[in-house]
Amino acid sequence: MAESSVQQFSIEKTDSPVAKADREKLLEDPGFGNLFTDHMTMIRWSEGQGWHDARVQKREAIQMDPASSVLHYAQEIFEGMKAYRLEDGSTALFRPEENAKRFQASARRMAMPELPVNMFMESIEKLVDIDRDWIPSIEGGSLYLRPFMFASEVFLGVRPAKQYLYLVIASPAGAYFKKGSSAVTIWVSEDYSRAAPGGTGAAKCGGNYAASLVAQAEAIKQDCDQVVFLDAAEHKWVEELGGMNLFFVMDDGRLITPPLTGTILPGITRESIMTLAREEGLTVSEELYSIDQWEADAKSGALRETFACGTAAVVTSVGTVKSSGGSFTIGSGGPGQLTEKLRSRLVDIQRGIAPDNHSWVKRLF
Ligand SMILES: *Cc1c(COP(=O)(O)O)cnc(C)c1O
Repeated sequence: MAESSVQQFSIEKTDSPVAKADREKLLEDPGFGNLFTDHMTMIRWSEGQGWHDARVQKREAIQMDPASSVLHYAQEIFEGMKAYRLEDGSTALFRPEENAKRFQASARRMAMPELPVNMFMESIEKLVDIDRDWIPSIEGGSLYLRPFMFASEVFLGVRPAKQYLYLVIASPAGAYFKKGSSAVTIWVSEDYSRAAPGGTGAAKCGGNYAASLVAQAEAIKQDCDQVVFLDAAEHKWVEELGGMNLFFVMDDGRLITPPLTGTILPGITRESIMTLAREEGLTVSEELYSIDQWEADAKSGALRETFACGTAAVVTSVGTVKSSGGSFTIGSGGPGQLTEKLRSRLVDIQRGIAPDNHSWVKRLF
């Protein structure tokens, strides 16, 4: 089958890279999502030819016909991952095969072709290799990688497209939230849902983010950092933030996280935290947790901490929860102890400081 044929990547270096002195200046304070490296990876797919024309080339604008079907029907998926420096100076990725598999799962849900895992891996590794000088060496710095794919066929009919473009771009990043370990305030969205049963909540697609933005804007207007979504059917069960999964640390040694029922994104950080928490002797329970229970448990003390997690910000404590009906505080309202412990256990494994018993860290060079 064309889909699984081995693809040779052609590699063409840019002849106008950012000058070393300019790059180093930029890397002192990269922020998040504003700054990009010199190159990008690109692979095309078409019905008949399958995956072809794999290349690493200079980063440049892509030409799009106004009738490209992604612009009309939003067949688009993406991933988010980081390349970073280890203590010993080598460069690594964290569980990249999981991103590759999730990218395939997202593609299936959106009726798009699946990129073979080995091609995904190669597309990432080749880009990190050619742009290795863009990995920030500042504390907490990383090269954020953004693989994505969209329907590029020029056609306005409503059906899965017959042509797609897969790209990887890279963006040097500092710490995601300004201060690494302070607690965030989150807003409970009562009017908007992120994902419904049978919908696309478990796929990492741009459409989910588009649907979440008005709720996120409402959260900001309410002086909150992030929005938390409830389930679409009953508006009762806590699901996740716009781009992070949630955990609840209970007084009795349980760690609760909402189950993957199809409306929640299966986070790789979520799964890693569950594994580490079990190793810490906690009972990890994937169970429905209601907004009313959350408030009652915070008030009674049965709930000690709440945290959100995802690749970009890793692990972040939730201090205060606000809604139209009022607000409640979790624990002291600051970063939780167990949250900080799990966060540093994960970060220490990622950075090569603690032993990597699960072979999660993939060293590149
Ligand atoms: C990407 C994402 C997450 C976190 O997933 P990680 O694999 O941990 O980065 C959580 N929720 C949503 C909606 C996401 O898009």
